[in-house]
This record gives sequence, structure tokens and C-alpha cells, in this order.
Amino acid sequence: MEEWRLKSVYTVCRSAPLKTSWTDANPGRRFFGCAKYDGKANQCGFFEWFDPRTCPRGMEVGPHLMKKNKALQSELDLQKHTVKVLKVMLGASWVALIVMGVLLFSTPK
Ligand SMILES: [Zn+2]
Repeated sequence: MEEWRLKSVYTVCRSAPLKTSWTDANPGRRFFGCAKYDGKANQCGFFEWFDPRTCPRGMEVGPHLMKKNKALQSELDLQKHTVKVLKVMLGASWVALIVMGVLLFSTPK
């Protein structure tokens, strides 16, 4: 079997999709985990690593890259929010401009 084609394995309760760990201990390491896993009961608890243990260099660099990625993601979210606010303000300014234009040119002289 070609392992890289494997997307999930079947378990007792359903299937366990191939997921990627983003923890500091296992950065980028893939595993099969119960699809019903949500930290609660009512799951079979299936868990199996797909990739071998992360190499020492990956352990050193992975967490740093993930922290950087999280920081960039936060910055991106903030920028997206700013763009939304600016779009609303731009829309409002256009409405105000049109209203002022109508008032200015409809005033009798
Ligand atoms: Zn399960």
C-alpha cells in the first residue's frame, strides 16, 4: 500500500482522519486520531502516529515557526478588521458626500 495516499483509517466508532499536530512537542507531525475526539467521552480514543518522531532540528525550529505564524495570523486578523472598519467609513463618507451634494445643489438661490 502506498502510505502517502492514506487519508484516514477506520476505527471502532467511525474513522480516524490524518491530522497534523501543532504542539511544541510534535510540530508538524501527522497522526491518525479518532474523528469524534473532542476531549469528551463518547469516542473510541484511537490515536496513532503516522510520521516518525520529529528530527532534532525540526524540534528546534518548529515551535519558533509556529509562534511566528500565530503572531502573523493575529496581525492579519487585526488588519482584516481594520479594512472592514475603513470600508464602512468609506461607505458612510460617500453617503454623506452625496447628501451634502444634493443639499447644496437643491437649495434655491
Ligand atoms: Zn473513534
